[in-house]
Amino acid sequence: MRENNASFNEKTGRLFELIAKAKNCAALTGAGVSTLSGIRDFRGKNGLYKEMDAEKIFDIDYFDKDPSFYYKASRDFIYNLKEKEASIVHLTLGRLEEAGYLKGVITQNIDLLHQKGGSKRVIEIHGSPSVHFCRRCSNRAEVEDLSAAKAGISGGRPDLMSFEQAVEIIAQGELPKCGKCGAVLKPAITFFGEGLPARALRDAETLAGNADLLLVLGTSLTVYPAAGVPEITLRKGGKIVIVNNMATPLDRYAELCFDDLETLFSSIGEQFERFFHSCQGTFGA
Ligand SMILES: [Zn+2]
Repeated sequence: MRENNASFNEKTGRLFELIAKAKNCAALTGAGVSTLSGIRDFRGKNGLYKEMDAEKIFDIDYFDKDPSFYYKASRDFIYNLKEKEASIVHLTLGRLEEAGYLKGVITQNIDLLHQKGGSKRVIEIHGSPSVHFCRRCSNRAEVEDLSAAKAGISGGRPDLMSFEQAVEIIAQGELPKCGKCGAVLKPAITFFGEGLPARALRDAETLAGNADLLLVLGTSLTVYPAAGVPEITLRKGGKIVIVNNMATPLDRYAELCFDDLETLFSSIGEQFERFFHSCQGTFGA
């Protein structure tokens, strides 16, 4: 543990101050935020990758061989968004953004829970299942732009499908297919063997570079590109606060470190409303 109760309260107060004073606060989130919503960490102790064949789920060569494997395997952790609840972290970040205290969220997660929690600006640096596209007929750059812009897919595009459309088809035991060539569509999630989404990376770099405060939540900062995001903020003179259940390589550069996301955000959820109400009168409005 990095803190006892007394210092926890003191540190929470300090965090309030940092957020209230920041002009450009942003957040970076990883698997630790998703696990609060009951989503299994891929790499953690009970991680999905420990199970047989799990690495194949997001392997692009395997997807080309047998796309049905991805859809079967991911059905109960990607396409069941309706059954998942946004956690206290997702909800608090959504409310902070709504109240003008957060500019956006950069996330490694592919579960769409920040959107469900009310966040408007979500930059998904491992891609997103919000768009499904055809590997033959679709233009990858356009797909990444659409997915990054959360623009939604207008009608008349047989090679593209929204998350919601894909959910319906998968629920019927079918595979989402290209209306042009019949190939199975792929989600715009970045698979192993694929390049990272260029537009999302650029957006993340801009947001992190402009941030005078970056909240680093539930990521061990060992996997790039996420690991590089706080480095951008630090290089530009911004501060970082780290909340993670394990030490990270950047702890010593952090203004504050906390261990437990749920404890901290439960406390924040209760206290922020009062805090901002008393000093700004806007939070939770
Ligand atoms: Zn096609």
